[in-house]
Order: sequence, then structure tokens, then C-alpha cells
Amino acid sequence: MWKNMLDKVKGKITEFKRRKEIKKKAKTEIVQTKTEEKDKNEQIPKKEYPNRFLKFYYLNQKKLNKERRKSYSGRKGKGICVRCKQKSFPGIVFCEFHQQKQQTYNYRSRHKSI
Ligand SMILES: [Zn+2]
Repeated sequence: MWKNMLDKVKGKITEFKRRKEIKKKAKTEIVQTKTEEKDKNEQIPKKEYPNRFLKFYYLNQKKLNKERRKSYSGRKGKGICVRCKQKSFPGIVFCEFHQQKQQTYNYRSRHKSI
């Protein structure tokens, strides 16, 4: 009888210990995830770029887009190809060479999915 009782008590104690350990583990896991989230939040303002060209682009995006639009509309008005300095066809923003290039590009992009 006594042995059985002792075994039962021992079993209960070990069970209790296991549960405590599981609880501890769960707590530490939660803490770890929290710290990871914090790290992510801190990394956002730093911003890492894949290369220096993209870095330059992202840092000067507004300015670059303004300049490009200016030169594009300027060339369009003057009748010059928007990709090179040759005269463009009337009603088109490209010269003969770049018009053909654009047509092949459009054809490929439109027939990609088919
Ligand atoms: Zn051209």
C-alpha cells in the first residue's frame, strides 16, 4: 500500500514539474517573438537597398521622375524620338528604329500569357 502511495505522489510531482517547464518554455518563446518583432520595427527606418543604383533611384525618385517627364514631354512637343535624338514619326513619340523595337516589345509582352 505505502509503496503505491509513494509512487502516486512521485508521479504527481514529476507531472507538476513537467507542466512548470512547459509553461516556462511557452513564456520564453513569447518573449523571443516579441523581441524579434521589435527588431523588425527598428530596421524599417534604416532601409537596405539591393544595390547602389536602386538606392540612388529610391532616394531621388521624385526628382528623377520629374526630370524624365519634362524631357519626355519636351521631346514629344519638338517631334524628337523619346529614346534617342532622331526625328520621330508624326503622331508617334518614337523614331523608326525605336518604333519597331517598341512594337516587338509590345507583341512579346501581350503574348506572354498565351
Ligand atoms: Zn529613337
